[in-house]
Amino acid sequence: MEDDTRTPAEKAHPGPATESSAPVASSPTTTSAAGTNSSGPLPLRHGHELPFVAAPSSYLRPKPISRTMSDNRASGPLDKEQMQGLRGVREFLKVRTSYDVLPLSFRLVVLDNNLLIKKSLNILIQNGIVSAPLWDSQNSAFAGLLTSTDFINVIQYYCQFPDEIAHIDQFRLSSLRDIERAIGVLPLETVSVHPMRPLYEACRRMLKTRARRIPLVDRDDETGREMVVSVITQYRILKFIAVNNEQYTMLLKKPVRELGLGTYKDLATATMGSSVLDVIHLMVKYNISAVPIIDKDNRVLNLFEAVDVIPCIKGGAYDELSATVGEALSRRAEEFGGIYTCNEDDRLDAIFDTIRKSRVHRLIVVDDDNRLKGIISLSDILKYVLLYGEEDDDIRGN
Ligand code: AMP
Repeated sequence: MEDDTRTPAEKAHPGPATESSAPVASSPTTTSAAGTNSSGPLPLRHGHELPFVAAPSSYLRPKPISRTMSDNRASGPLDKEQMQGLRGVREFLKVRTSYDVLPLSFRLVVLDNNLLIKKSLNILIQNGIVSAPLWDSQNSAFAGLLTSTDFINVIQYYCQFPDEIAHIDQFRLSSLRDIERAIGVLPLETVSVHPMRPLYEACRRMLKTRARRIPLVDRDDETGREMVVSVITQYRILKFIAVNNEQYTMLLKKPVRELGLGTYKDLATATMGSSVLDVIHLMVKYNISAVPIIDKDNRVLNLFEAVDVIPCIKGGAYDELSATVGEALSRRAEEFGGIYTCNEDDRLDAIFDTIRKSRVHRLIVVDDDNRLKGIISLSDILKYVLLYGEEDDDIRGN
């Protein structure tokens, strides 16, 4: 499933292509494909005169009232409010089902397991989607989810067995499990959830398995056959929370720094001159879905995401993986949603505001000079919202 509920404004912020062609910073409403505003650059906020396109910090620090910790007095009531907000969201997730997250109308592209991997790649690109459920038509059963991780596995296979490249075009989706075995990665758990089960359960399952999306699978009462209803993502769940729980998310006034939200140590980064293949190896090594692209002064220029791998190998061009990140990012689709940043003093309620308004998949934490400090993934936010302060605040249980 890949429904697109973005507003035109959300679609209008392509990321900077290369270091040399870095566009001016602008407001998120009127950026052209080249990253410049048609009526001239918009005024820049002090301290944010950065070679950046999407300027989400302006969302994150709503004006004129700056919501930083300095506004808050005693920490006791703040803690209480924060917990009240978290409890409200958790209760909401327990009374809503995964089915509730689905939009009124959507399409679902399901791929037959027998399809050639090469063809599946073209179908994803043609449909503008980055994943699809797989169907085993022999056994009439759900057969897992095709995601960019599968293509990364194919690339690793090609690196480990370069002689096999001649056969790579003949691989079918059903051979993905063999590829996993050959390169020695653990097969991803084929998790799914019933659409009518509480949404809380889908969230717990996603955190437990580190899945960024989860298929909703129902069973026909008469035939006993499985039916894939749709797929929900962490992004869609957080958007659903943000849109329906403003009364609770507005209570989450603690800043990112105090919550320790995200990752700040041992960050995987690359430069515009790194090869795409090097970045893919980093993603595999760290088990992450995005690598910030920085300059020599640790300033954030862009972000290479796992989904950026898909266009790189379009048409089976695996040898193009030696291209640089700068080259690969300059081929990014114009509707690329941009990069979202925040700083450590931004509060969680403001992050939820941004999620409510925009298509955010992660936030890069920067200082006032746009130097990289950390990264906040949607999984970090989901984990905090679900588990913070819970007795069983690990992700073992369901
Ligand atoms: P993700 O793959 O985006 O779901 O992130 C999984 C975990 O890895 C989260 O806790 C992130 O904060 C962390 N993470 C994401 N990107 C990076 C990175 N480039 N370097 C180090 N950790 C990261």
